[in-house]
Amino acid sequence: MRKEYLYTPGPVAVPPEVLLKLAEPMYHHRSKRFQTVFSEVNEKLKQVFRTKNDIITFTASGTGAMEAAVVNFLSPGDKVITINGGKFGERWVGLAKAYGLAQHEVKITWGTAPDPEEIGKLLAADSSIKAVYTQLVETSTGTLYDVQALGAVVAKTPAIFVVDAISGMGADDLPVDAWQVDVCVVGSQKALMIPPGLSFMSVSEKAWAMAEKATLPKYYFDARKARKLLAKNDTPYTPAHTLIGALNVSLDMILKEGIEAVVARHARLAAAVRAGVAALNLPLYSKRPANALTAVETPGMDAEVIKKELDKDGILVAGGQDEAKGKIIRIAMMGYANEADVMIALAGLEQVLQRVGYAFTPGAGVAAAQASLLKG
Ligand SMILES: *Cc1c(COP(=O)(O)O)cnc(C)c1O
Repeated sequence: MRKEYLYTPGPVAVPPEVLLKLAEPMYHHRSKRFQTVFSEVNEKLKQVFRTKNDIITFTASGTGAMEAAVVNFLSPGDKVITINGGKFGERWVGLAKAYGLAQHEVKITWGTAPDPEEIGKLLAADSSIKAVYTQLVETSTGTLYDVQALGAVVAKTPAIFVVDAISGMGADDLPVDAWQVDVCVVGSQKALMIPPGLSFMSVSEKAWAMAEKATLPKYYFDARKARKLLAKNDTPYTPAHTLIGALNVSLDMILKEGIEAVVARHARLAAAVRAGVAALNLPLYSKRPANALTAVETPGMDAEVIKKELDKDGILVAGGQDEAKGKIIRIAMMGYANEADVMIALAGLEQVLQRVGYAFTPGAGVAAAQASLLKG
């Protein structure tokens, strides 16, 4: 028999209430029923994003909303800053290239976060920069960026501030309006606890004003077209309305707990994972670790082997990508996760470490995690 525990940084485990919603018979999307669900979801999304801005829903994975966050606000040749500290920063770089933007790429060492002061200096030196693209959590390295400080810097300029919070929203703190984020993109299969297939983009008035003049080509991801229909709780094309129905359930769970309490739970679980791996003498890969996931180094061992051994026991974590491949495993306590999940992940990891002959005191990681959780 195989029983699985999904601790990958997306997709994440989906709560039974949400799975049951997905089992309902099909209905038609051009209907009052869908409009009611969509209007509820749009209101709840705003509470989770902590924004007054419109939030556009796309039927696409997170990268679709990232593409929308480029094509809707810029014109060919426009200058942008892209922050690249891992695989997802690279994605902004790739999008800017694909659309012929003039790009100042700020490349930072994997596992570190960008320096807001440096971004401020770049913006001060060139007032023609139209946008700054970054992540909240760089999922490939488990690093949390200082979005609040970056937002304060960008808000003083004509540029818009665009944040990929696909893995961060609902796990790490991001009050969109308070932190002056103009465009925030989020995906459905991370802390929002539903399957892949939807992505979301909040848009500030500053960004909508840029959208009026933006001439990059777009069709499916045209946010102005979507905004017009959003006012009527409708969408330009067939929405993944069953996923939107599922989201209505998962957002209820999030808002019942309270968005701040949800973030605090993620902080508590991540702190316990960090305490656990520290007690096993496994260093953190990130200098500024996120709540959403923990990137753990496996010195003297091939991390891919550790990942495969965990998989044999039904515990699913992610490995490293590119330069981090073979060096790290990434453990996500994201979305539908509680204290017991931390115990399972760490006890499972200890079991595997014993199998591969790593020297440590069995139980030390679990005990440290428990101590961390007991502190609150
Ligand atoms: C998961 C993730 C994405 C999304 O990619 P898709 O596979 O297109 O859903 C983008 N950015 C970050 C930071 C992510 O964690």
